[in-house]
Amino acid sequence: MTQPPAYVLIDRDGVINKDSDDFIKSPEEFQPIPGSLEAIALLTQHNYQVVVITNQSGLARGLFDTNMLESIHARMRSLTEEKGGKIEAIYFCPHGPDDNCSCRKPKPGLLLAFGKNKAISLSGIPFIGDSLRDLQAALAVGAKPLLVKTGKGKKTLKNNPDLTVPVFENLYDAAQFIISGQ
Ligand SMILES: [Mg+2]
Ligand SMILES: [Zn+2]
Repeated sequence: MTQPPAYVLIDRDGVINKDSDDFIKSPEEFQPIPGSLEAIALLTQHNYQVVVITNQSGLARGLFDTNMLESIHARMRSLTEEKGGKIEAIYFCPHGPDDNCSCRKPKPGLLLAFGKNKAISLSGIPFIGDSLRDLQAALAVGAKPLLVKTGKGKKTLKNNPDLTVPVFENLYDAAQFIISGQ
């Protein structure tokens, strides 16, 4: 019997790579947070399929185009593979805050698209993020939100003292928690 794949969903900016108020507009600006690529490798080695779920409003703002985003993601994938990890899929929202789309987090459209593509329930699937909107998107579909303190994470904690989600120093700690069986 083959086990169905287990998934871990991960926000990109502020979780995998250093966030920037100026947006990540080129592969050179994609700088991994220490330990994050190793975290993906750890998950891969424990048979988790890693899926990235990311808002990229820089597209709507005209700061970069989809070809550039693909180049950025090619770098993210190759740096991850150098560490022995694999990114199974990347779902991104290309819209801006005023576009009223259904996929910009906190809306759950990207998560729903992922669930539909894989024909799986999102219930209990870990989604690791650094912003409140990541947690909200996860909760909207019954996924399991995990907060990391990297990126906007510390600010998210400070602004939302009543949060009851598990909190981790960084992606590596969250990955270790997941592979330990939660
Ligand atoms: Mg983020
Ligand atoms: Zn969108």
